[in-house]
Amino acid sequence: MVLQDHRDVKDQRVYAPIESNSKLSKVGPTLEDRMKQYRESVEQPSQYWARVAKQNFFWKTLWESDDSVFSFNFDKSKGPIDIKWFDGATTNICYNAVDRHIEEGKKDKVAFYWEGNDVGETSAVTYGQLHDEVSKLAYLLKTKYGVVKGTRVSIYLPMITLGPIAMLAVARLGAVASVVFGGFSAHSLSARIIDSESTVLITAEGTMRGDKPIQLKKIVDEALTDAEAQGVACKAIVFERHGRDGVPMKEGRDVWYQDEIAALPAEAASTPVEWVEAEHPLFLLYTSGSTGKPKGLEHTTGGYMVYAHTTFTTTFDYHDDDVYFCTGDIGWITGHTYATWGPLLAGSTSVLFEGVPTHPTPSRWWDIVDKFKVTQFYTAPTAIRALMKGGEAPVKKTSRASLRVLGSVGEPINVEAWNWYYNVVGEGHCDIVDTWWQTETGGHMITPLPGNTPLKPGSASLPFFGVQPALLDPTTLKEVEGAGEGLLVIKHSWPGQSRTIFKDAERFAQTYFPVDGYYMTGDGARRDADGYYWLTGRVDDVLNVSGHRLGTSEVECAVNTHPDVVESAVVGIPHDVKGEGIYVYVCFKEGVEITQKLLDSVKAIVRNEIGAIATPDAVHPANGLPKTRSGKIMRRILRKIAAGQLDELGDISTLADPSVVEELIALKAVWV
Ligand code: ATP
Ligand code: MG
Repeated sequence: MVLQDHRDVKDQRVYAPIESNSKLSKVGPTLEDRMKQYRESVEQPSQYWARVAKQNFFWKTLWESDDSVFSFNFDKSKGPIDIKWFDGATTNICYNAVDRHIEEGKKDKVAFYWEGNDVGETSAVTYGQLHDEVSKLAYLLKTKYGVVKGTRVSIYLPMITLGPIAMLAVARLGAVASVVFGGFSAHSLSARIIDSESTVLITAEGTMRGDKPIQLKKIVDEALTDAEAQGVACKAIVFERHGRDGVPMKEGRDVWYQDEIAALPAEAASTPVEWVEAEHPLFLLYTSGSTGKPKGLEHTTGGYMVYAHTTFTTTFDYHDDDVYFCTGDIGWITGHTYATWGPLLAGSTSVLFEGVPTHPTPSRWWDIVDKFKVTQFYTAPTAIRALMKGGEAPVKKTSRASLRVLGSVGEPINVEAWNWYYNVVGEGHCDIVDTWWQTETGGHMITPLPGNTPLKPGSASLPFFGVQPALLDPTTLKEVEGAGEGLLVIKHSWPGQSRTIFKDAERFAQTYFPVDGYYMTGDGARRDADGYYWLTGRVDDVLNVSGHRLGTSEVECAVNTHPDVVESAVVGIPHDVKGEGIYVYVCFKEGVEITQKLLDSVKAIVRNEIGAIATPDAVHPANGLPKTRSGKIMRRILRKIAAGQLDELGDISTLADPSVVEELIALKAVWV
């Protein structure tokens, strides 16, 4: 079975690594350098990871033997699913991310440049200051709230430095953080507080998103009342971001962060770290829910620490004087691993941005890049496509000369967006690292390395060190050898792997280990003759049209080559003859007039790009697509609208903009 992939024939261009990056690359300038290290990492994983773990971290006590730094069972028939790394060792991730750097003379190095929503709101936090603030908050949590090893603490904040500070403070005590994205509704927040049984919530009274004020405290009040009604009494520490006027505080439950911190004794600035086992839980993170009920994935301390640092420093080829900027919110795994833990463990300087890329102008990100001389920039394809809408001018009027590496994460990046990122944003002097990974994987799994790996637009390229991917034939569930396509699975554990779903080991085993011996990613992929991986979308998004398997992302990539199209989403609909028909939602560029001819031209372009088999059965114009707050398209909603099952749309409250659903339904009445 061959998955048709227009990218095979369409954009065969391979981009050599940027020469100046090759000279810097710590892995080395050639693919052979990478493969040599890769072979070592998979042939002798224990020795490889033991060496890495000893080099870059402080362990209070070490694991027993370098011959066995891990143990895992991916096979339910042989016993419970079980994953352990560096078992028996003790450490503290906050110590490694903050204290260690101070001991190494980096007290005055900037950890975070913070850039607020409005131009002019800006600050810098050094490692020394970070240490004091983290210590004080840890002291408060410990003495006033009784937070100890294992206590769950929820965090619901905008992108301000208190976010990472709170994560560090919680980890300093060996407690377990559950960060909830600051854009989530009261219902989503309370569900997460209840499931994690958090006893305290760190939050802020409000924030601005562009010119829109967001009153977080109102949402918090509703969520905490709801949680209490369901038996989870959770207190709130509220950071004053814009002012206290009109903010209701509940006596005995809510306090102002600034007041509490100011009242602490001097000793609060030197709260000792709590040493924990390598397998002690570090955080819970509920997935975005684009495929169903959110799962509280649990990550543990030692393995996650090693993997976050290693992938951060390697994938971004981090050097000591770099300035790194990740736009991912701390509410997502990207913001955990690559806005907080990875950069801090590396002792780096990074930028934390509260606002949106279009406020006050669509040049905002690039202005920030210029202001701080950012060297590595990391964002999502959905944001790139949104900026493409505004054309090149807002980008071109900035310099961006400092940039070396551009990262992408969250979904397959289509060729048009890749080219725009490479040529317009990067002006051809940056490597693009298209990083494939998941909340469950903790860190990058398949990615190019700057200055090292030749780039093929749309391919995440090769597995990271220690990662052993395989493709399973969806029918026989046997491994596909050589070039081919199938279900993307991982054969061997890696340190950053999620250990379980909080309070639901059974669901963890069922969801991720349905085939004995493999971690099932839920994504489909194709491997080309060079061993490069091309992600084709979620497995449950694969269409079966007259017996031909087509990835939704293949069809979307074809649609997106249309000159009038900004983005698209493809779902299957029941079809009498073909089994499944192809239903395409399309967002056109601003000002494009929607006519039948235009919709037909979308069909024609897919037919030309992929073949007659992929000709869409319906084209549905859209002003916007239903996306999660992290920018993922919620295809289950699109499937229901396409099939006319409007009473089965389910929960749409976690959408970034629930109003798009109404619009889609209205447009359907006109056009489809
Ligand atoms: P849920 O599991 O609740 O549905 P989610 O999968 O959207 O939520 P994440 O863990 O943030 O939550 O996303 C991981 C998924 O994102 C991957 O499984 C994959 O489908 C997609 N993805 C991430 N990065 C890439 C990439 N570089 N290329 C292709 N797909 C990617
Ligand atoms: Mg997922």
